[in-house]
Amino acid sequence: MIRRDRPRVVVVGAGFGGLWAVRTLAFEPIEVLLVDRRNHHTFFPLLYQVAAAEIEPEAIAFPIRGLLRRFPNVGFEMAEIRGVDPEARRLETDGPPISYDFLILAPGSVEHTFGVPGVAEHAFFLKTLDQAIDLRNHILASFERAAREPDPFLRRRMLTFTIVGGGPTGVEFAGALAELIARPLRRDFPTLDFREVRVILLEAMEGLLPGLPDRLRAYAAARLRRLGVEVRLRAMVEAVEPGCVRLKDGTRIETGTIVWTAGVRGNPLGEALGLPTGPGGRVPVASTLQVPRHPEIYVIGDLALPEGSGKLPMVAPVAIQQGALAARNILRALKGRPPQPFRYRDPGTLVTIGRNAAVAHVFGRSFTGFPAWLLWLGVHLVRLIGMRNRLVVLSGWAWDYLFYERVVRLILPSRPVRDE
Ligand SMILES: Cc1cc2nc3c(=O)[nH]c(=O)nc-3n(C[C@H](O)[C@H](O)[C@H](O)COP(=O)(O)OP(=O)(O)OC[C@H]3O[C@@H](n4cnc5c(N)ncnc54)[C@H](O)[C@@H]3O)c2cc1C
Repeated sequence: MIRRDRPRVVVVGAGFGGLWAVRTLAFEPIEVLLVDRRNHHTFFPLLYQVAAAEIEPEAIAFPIRGLLRRFPNVGFEMAEIRGVDPEARRLETDGPPISYDFLILAPGSVEHTFGVPGVAEHAFFLKTLDQAIDLRNHILASFERAAREPDPFLRRRMLTFTIVGGGPTGVEFAGALAELIARPLRRDFPTLDFREVRVILLEAMEGLLPGLPDRLRAYAAARLRRLGVEVRLRAMVEAVEPGCVRLKDGTRIETGTIVWTAGVRGNPLGEALGLPTGPGGRVPVASTLQVPRHPEIYVIGDLALPEGSGKLPMVAPVAIQQGALAARNILRALKGRPPQPFRYRDPGTLVTIGRNAAVAHVFGRSFTGFPAWLLWLGVHLVRLIGMRNRLVVLSGWAWDYLFYERVVRLILPSRPVRDE
């Protein structure tokens, strides 16, 4: 039952899913409230470039209020959602409660440690802008400390960077880090012996980039090895300790930096809201994205496990298409029309491996090298929100491409870095 003149739709999460839901609901005769614990939207596909000192953090973030300005029926609240009372149709927050007639939940995902001991305490993650900045600061500080470390064992450990997970984020970050080290840092630290620097990529499976054609996976591994990355396949991490990774086969890697990109799981908000969760902490929903027994609640994006869709990848196009569908289904419900099921239109996969190199699997066709890299550049530039951001990113890339220079080699803010 709708209790006010205009029905109120609350959207939780201003990521890809939430924003596309809001866009679809804009200018409709309804009240829309977007809620996020941050005041900005983050463009995750370029997060690893922030960690690799390639682009400035502000270039991949956009203030949410700025995005909503042109939508007269959409408001914003910066609030942390902590619980839901579905009977009262009310959200509990870190401030006053928020009531709704329809709810779209799009809080995304969080890092998944698979219960491996020590990961939560000692590894770096790449899931938020803050984490990417922390990692960038730590990498740069490791070189500064190594430059004045007389003990060769400690110095080599400081200069060993281990990335766990050979999916797209691990592959892209390994390539970008290897290139940061190969030119800009090598020039910055003329007294360091760069034979002591190692970038190691650990993958538990037989090959990198699971799910892509074998030819592309082999290309990615070969490219990374050419950049000097030690790619180790069938390498299962048993535990992470301060300054060390232990593998299941007994190998011990002394390393000052462990970056965990091995997986993500549904945001625990699903459980906190009392919704049942399935594999990967995702919330099972009907094919129409509605929660069973509560058709006024929709779950979308990384958190959703829609019936009959198989195991959808946790990627932006899924979240975008689901955001738009959930919004359209709410508009249909208001007109007394039945909801429509979700059908994923896969636009393909693009992964870059340093300059001039990428793999592309689009419209059933696979290609690699410079054409794939150009496509990767174009798609990411177009998808990035904000004209200023596009210009800043493009100029950063051009500067890097022409002069082999990373402009953001700043330890900033200069809070203490981890001592590992
Ligand atoms: C490093 C990285 C690289 C990626 N690269 C790619 C890529 O190249 N291509 C691709 O297609 N996909 C990529 N992805 C995946 C893609 O970003 C996600 O699939 C997509 O963002 C999911 O959208 P979403 O709307 O479900 O959640 P998100 O985009 O994660 O948005 C969730 C929002 O909810 C907010 N939130 C969370 N909890 C709360 C709470 N309790 N209260 C209030 N607000 C809350 C968060 O602040 C956030 O703004 C990448 C992801 C990462 C982490």
